[in-house]
Amino acid sequence: MTETRPDATISRRRTLALLAAGPLAPLLPAFEVAAAPLAYRLDPQKLDDGVWLVAGAQEAITAKNGGAIANIVILDTSAGAVIVDTGPSRRFGEQLAALARELTGKDIARVYVTHIHPDHVFGNQAFRPEALATTERVVKGLEEMGGSYADAMYRVAGDWMRGTELVLPRKILGSGVEDFGSRRIRHLAMRGHTASDLVLFDERSGFLIAGDLVFLDRAPTTPNANLEQWRIALANLGGIPHRRLVPGHGPAEDSGRGIEDTRRWLDTIEAQIRGAFEKGLDVTEAIALPLPPWTLRIALARYEYERSVMHLYPRLEAERLPSVGKPG
Ligand SMILES: [Zn+2]
Repeated sequence: MTETRPDATISRRRTLALLAAGPLAPLLPAFEVAAAPLAYRLDPQKLDDGVWLVAGAQEAITAKNGGAIANIVILDTSAGAVIVDTGPSRRFGEQLAALARELTGKDIARVYVTHIHPDHVFGNQAFRPEALATTERVVKGLEEMGGSYADAMYRVAGDWMRGTELVLPRKILGSGVEDFGSRRIRHLAMRGHTASDLVLFDERSGFLIAGDLVFLDRAPTTPNANLEQWRIALANLGGIPHRRLVPGHGPAEDSGRGIEDTRRWLDTIEAQIRGAFEKGLDVTEAIALPLPPWTLRIALARYEYERSVMHLYPRLEAERLPSVGKPG
């Protein structure tokens, strides 16, 4: 019979974990300290009376940022908290819901989902499906794409996604207005960044919450974009009198710079990619082309340009194919 001895390695590890955990250590068993769940740092920035921005990192989705790259807006109303977009994971959504309750001292009245992209929708799970509102086209898009977005997010963001499943919004919106007592929110159904982009306008603050139709100081993403429709949407946004604009990515601003820079970026990359295609350059050569100097101040310019070449080139090739069966 062998004597059972305490495992020296485990107890050393436990001691280290306890030391690292500081004052909380006596309250938690060592294994829980060691496997402490990942937590997002939600740092609400007050933009106005009863309006907060939880700013996304101006980065691509990584295992380090857990996908927390999109802007989230929280509004206080007499009917409860109103939230715009839910972030990249269940964990983010749960932290967001807790934050909104803490900031407003009320329950969640409404959660708007601006479009289908995973950095904006995978926190839905933390909210009642009846509170989640978006356009019919966004719901259809999520039904079609949700599975592959989930796979991609689990691959890239890893453990941050644990337990995350996509929840579809139940409340369908067109263009119109919702009254929350102390605040009325207009919804404007637009498109261009994706097949359906919901824009919100808060009448009280004069804030235009533009979703990913506007990027500021960060290169726009184009995998589901229709550039022509996007430019029309930008022109329409510019025509709406507003005090401040909150882009989907980047700082809130009141100068028109977000709309202007987004349009300039779309024009720049489209001209460059089309030009490369007309010259007969292949994808690798098109990717290697330099970008104009003004784009140096835009985060992820090179990365997003390369992605845009990768999906716009096949579209240009498809346009160029001779149409079969037409005379002449
Ligand atoms: Zn997007």
